[in-house]
Amino acid sequence: MPEKNIFKKIIDKEIPADILYEDEQCLAFRDVAPQAPIHVLVIPKKEIASMDAIDHEDAELMAHLWLVIRDLARQLELDQGYRVVVNCGEQGGQTVDHLHFHLLGGRMLDWPPG
Ligand code: AMP
Repeated sequence: MPEKNIFKKIIDKEIPADILYEDEQCLAFRDVAPQAPIHVLVIPKKEIASMDAIDHEDAELMAHLWLVIRDLARQLELDQGYRVVVNCGEQGGQTVDHLHFHLLGGRMLDWPPG
């Protein structure tokens, strides 16, 4: 059997994570190497490798993830603003092959990103 992806291990509770939110479709947990005072990853439980692997049948799931991100931003009191980032593929800087949304906030964020 192939080695499980690290995020799949977090979903299956085989490795610990600082989980902020969970439902049947998704999981949100703090990034282990935060790039801002608030840095949360929101992931679908469905194994989707990247943004490029999203299918039309995932449309409802994607809408759900955005609403979860919006709710988390409110819960975390990011009322001054925040950024949601999806890295896709090698040039996009993706290092974990399981779709994830970075929710970043709590400081002034630079633009353009590196
Ligand atoms: P990306 O570079 O967009 O693929 O983002 C992967 C993110 O996952 C990085 O920000 C890592 O710090 C984060 N990460 C990797 N392993 C873990 C882990 N075990 N728990 C929480 N975050 C992790």
